[in-house]
Amino acid sequence: MIPQAIISDIHANLEALEAVLADIAQFGVAEILCLGDVVGYGPNPVECTEIVRRRCKLSLCGNHDNAVIHGTYGFSHNARDAVEYTRRLMQPGLLSLPPVRSRWRFIRDLPRSYKEGEVLYVHASPRDPINEYILAQDVHADPDKLRILFDKIDKLCFVGHTHVPGIFTPEPSFKAPADADMCWEVAPGKAIVNVGSVGQPRDGDNRACYVVFTGSEVRFRRVEYDFARTIAKIQAAPGLAGTNAARLEKGS
Ligand code: ZN
Repeated sequence: MIPQAIISDIHANLEALEAVLADIAQFGVAEILCLGDVVGYGPNPVECTEIVRRRCKLSLCGNHDNAVIHGTYGFSHNARDAVEYTRRLMQPGLLSLPPVRSRWRFIRDLPRSYKEGEVLYVHASPRDPINEYILAQDVHADPDKLRILFDKIDKLCFVGHTHVPGIFTPEPSFKAPADADMCWEVAPGKAIVNVGSVGQPRDGDNRACYVVFTGSEVRFRRVEYDFARTIAKIQAAPGLAGTNAARLEKGS
């Protein structure tokens, strides 16, 4: 198959997205797929949406993209305020020009899932493509949940949403990328692969994360970016909470 870069959870972090695109350039991938949450938390939703529209073969609907259009039910204060901020920048008014309207339609019409042969792509989980979290602790705390999720896929499923990269297999087990030398060889059985987050990593590593998928292997990439710049923009943006800034430095 044609090698793909799979990115997710950009969260309006332009510096992280640009660094990741520069990193992707060295691999000669044929296409970039985005698993959603282009917006939310970060300061540059318009710019990130435009880049994703231009550069990605497709982008799926994440819970933050969905909340911008349909409302923030179940969101924390923080996340809700960021959705409001995003709406102020993106929602067309009576006099808005066509580019503003088509950008809004792009977010509104993002598909919930995508399938290519035996490979499924969703933002969150095969059962609930937009909202369900698949957590490493589910391996011990809720193995039945993982069994149900694995029943729903043919072979491979790529997800984002938790911002914690890694590989789930049906035993069930979870492996962090570092435990697989950052390169996981696709095994004969099923797997659910979390590609991590470009714009707000939460696994204790503050570098942007994404994967290159060749069909036979999944290579996890970590990319340094100028998070100090993103943090300064968040702190200067009316309506964005400082906690969204602090976690970029910590990567958690
Ligand atoms: Zn997210």
